[in-house]
Amino acid sequence: MSIDTATITAQTLDRDELVQERRLVTEIPGPVSQELMTRKLAAVSSAVGTTMPVFAARAGGGVVVDVDGNSLIDLGSGIAVTGVGNSAPRVVAAVQQQVADFTHTCFMVTPYDSYVAVAEALNRLTPGDHDKRSALFNSGAEAVENAVKIARSYTKKQAVVAFDHAYHGRTNLTMALTAKSMPYKSGFGPFASEIYRAPMSYPFRDGLTGPEAAKRAISLIEKQIGADNLAAIIIEPIQGEGGFVVPAEGFLPALVEWASANGVVFIADEVQTGFARTGDMFASDHEGIVPDLVVTAKGIAGGLPLSAVTGRAEIMDAPHAGGLGGTYGGNPLACVAALAAIETYEEDGLVDRARGIGEKLVSRFREAAASDARIGDVRGRGAMIAVEFVDPETNEPDATLTGRVAKAAHAEGVIVLTCGTYGNIIRFLPPLTIPDALLDEGIDVVLQALAAS
Ligand SMILES: *Cc1c(COP(=O)(O)O)cnc(C)c1O
Repeated sequence: MSIDTATITAQTLDRDELVQERRLVTEIPGPVSQELMTRKLAAVSSAVGTTMPVFAARAGGGVVVDVDGNSLIDLGSGIAVTGVGNSAPRVVAAVQQQVADFTHTCFMVTPYDSYVAVAEALNRLTPGDHDKRSALFNSGAEAVENAVKIARSYTKKQAVVAFDHAYHGRTNLTMALTAKSMPYKSGFGPFASEIYRAPMSYPFRDGLTGPEAAKRAISLIEKQIGADNLAAIIIEPIQGEGGFVVPAEGFLPALVEWASANGVVFIADEVQTGFARTGDMFASDHEGIVPDLVVTAKGIAGGLPLSAVTGRAEIMDAPHAGGLGGTYGGNPLACVAALAAIETYEEDGLVDRARGIGEKLVSRFREAAASDARIGDVRGRGAMIAVEFVDPETNEPDATLTGRVAKAAHAEGVIVLTCGTYGNIIRFLPPLTIPDALLDEGIDVVLQALAAS
């Protein structure tokens, strides 16, 4: 689908351009945010947390403007969602048109073409040129659940292997797949059965090569589960919440090869890594692996809720008719937003842009690491970069320092997120539309926060 440029221009001229600057006009949080936070605490479940106590008013490019008029540098993209930028012009134009045409019919009742077009785009963009099919859902977790359903239906087997440090969501089946107890699982069991955990390749902490780490994982799988019982292996090609763990080269290809030789469906959870984020359209492209199923969400639709499972036609077509679906899955607003976002990734060269962002982040933090031994590791690819903080004496994770640095950066108007099984990682996921000057300034603020911590 193509949106005509005149519409885009008219739309952008409607409102003032958001000035791309860090500007603090109150303390963080300001008085209006504080008032809203009081209301939040009285109205919203306390189990729903927030990274920063500021309420958003507008966002775009590389900034989030809060309700007090502070303009914050966005190095998180709402957790890797707004890769094309917030309220990206093509997305806004497409959604405005669609919302006036129709908002919902349910694709399972009377279908519409944008859903089909999103499936076609995903079939074209995901790794491999074999015959593919897609199905659309609402959230990453829902798509992961469906990928597992599809793999079980196809293989007529039940067991699923996930990895140490994995994050796949917060629903019952995906909690079982997720590794970390607090805050994701603790107290929420019992969990789905037939889920097993294998050791991940984590070069900074295990020192193994990719093939060695794959051998370790495969041996455990063969001894403790057996390929005859195993429906699927699910893995994030670069782990997200678990700490941006990049497996050693050769790990993923060895697992794919083993899965294919043993009748096991290989599922790549690209919910966080997908859509240009890692400097490839998908992280699987980096080592040329071709997953049987690819799960996507976050970056897919410029901020509208949409997710997908895409994969080999014979696997995707295995469940019985009516076995997959949902009321809202592939909602028309989300679908036109996805088409506009995908056009933006492709037309605006955002894969290359992600690489440029990664080069800057890595070079600046490696330079800092040379004189600050508390930076244990700088890793990631493209606009998905992590800095792991450690005790220089022992290499033990330092979550306290990490928390202090993040908090100090927040106070100075930079949105950064932490992650990691040990909570000792600051992760950078800027919108791919962030101007260089803002990215540099955001890095400066984080490095100053580190120096002062
Ligand atoms: C965020 C995430 C999910 C869950 O997505 P939701 O939309 O929050 O349900 C699953 N897998 C990975 C790798 C993620 O980063």
